[in-house]
Formats: sequence, structure tokens, C-alpha cells
Amino acid sequence: MQLKSANRDELWTDYTVTNRASGKSYRVALRGWERGDSYCSCPDFRKNTLGTCKHILYALEQSKKRFDQKARNTPYHVRDMAVHLRYGKETELRLLAPDQVNGKLRSLIRPFMNRAIGEVSGLLSCIKELERLGLEVTIYPDARRVHEPAPLSRPDRASNRRDS
Ligand SMILES: [Zn+2]
Repeated sequence: MQLKSANRDELWTDYTVTNRASGKSYRVALRGWERGDSYCSCPDFRKNTLGTCKHILYALEQSKKRFDQKARNTPYHVRDMAVHLRYGKETELRLLAPDQVNGKLRSLIRPFMNRAIGEVSGLLSCIKELERLGLEVTIYPDARRVHEPAPLSRPDRASNRRDS
């Protein structure tokens, strides 16, 4: 396998892992050493719900050699808003947000922080409001899929109506 980092100075960043034999590439977002911390776009990651896969393990293994202990012990610093699935005993829908968000945003996202999100419609209105305020919220593909047949997606219909 071949590993390509989006930012070589950082451990907790995005990587492209390419299997040389098959030619297939997957996107890996390294966010920590524990299962469930990181994300991979491969089908196995989505299916096995273990919170890890061979691509994540490979990226962690390579990074372990490249970064010193201080970097390895520094936790991931959340920079962007993101909706992701956290795999573990239960698969949970979670919202990630940077530590330093201002008062209004903080109160907007508070109901969704540090817990499994049950009410998707509430989260969708929250995301809509965040985007209205000019914030970009990343929704990871697996988080998008989990709520099929009513997939978690941007509320495009409402904005179309407003435009027309
Ligand atoms: Zn993978």
C-alpha cells in the first residue's frame, strides 16, 4: 500500500491510501489512535462497523514511524464542523466542532455536542442555520448513508424553493 498525506507536517490529517495491486484508492481521515477515532472511505470500513480497517491501520502504522512521541500524544484538534459516525459498541451519529466557536454558534450546536444524535431533523435545521451563517459543515459519506431511506442530506429543497 502507498500512503499520501494531505499535509506532511501533521499527523492528524487526511490521507490517500492506494493499494498498488488493485490500483484502488481510499480516503483516510486520521483523528486518533483508538478505534472509532478515524474514518476510511472503503466499503469494508462501512460494513465492519469496527471503527477501523486495514487502510487506517496502515496509515497509523506508517505515521507512528514518522512522528515523534510529542506529536503522537497530541490529540486531534477539531478545526471544522463535521457530522460523522462513531463506530463502537453502538454506531452513533456525532457532530464535531472546534473548541473556539463563539457564543451564538455554541448555543446553536450545544444540543448536539458530545453525544449520540437521535433526532436527525433537528440536526438538519441546525446545519442549515450554520450554513446560513457562512459555516461549512462536512457530512461524511457514511453518516449520510446511515439514515436511509431518509438520508441525511443538505436541505436543498427548501433553498430551491426560496430561489424560485
Ligand atoms: Zn479502509
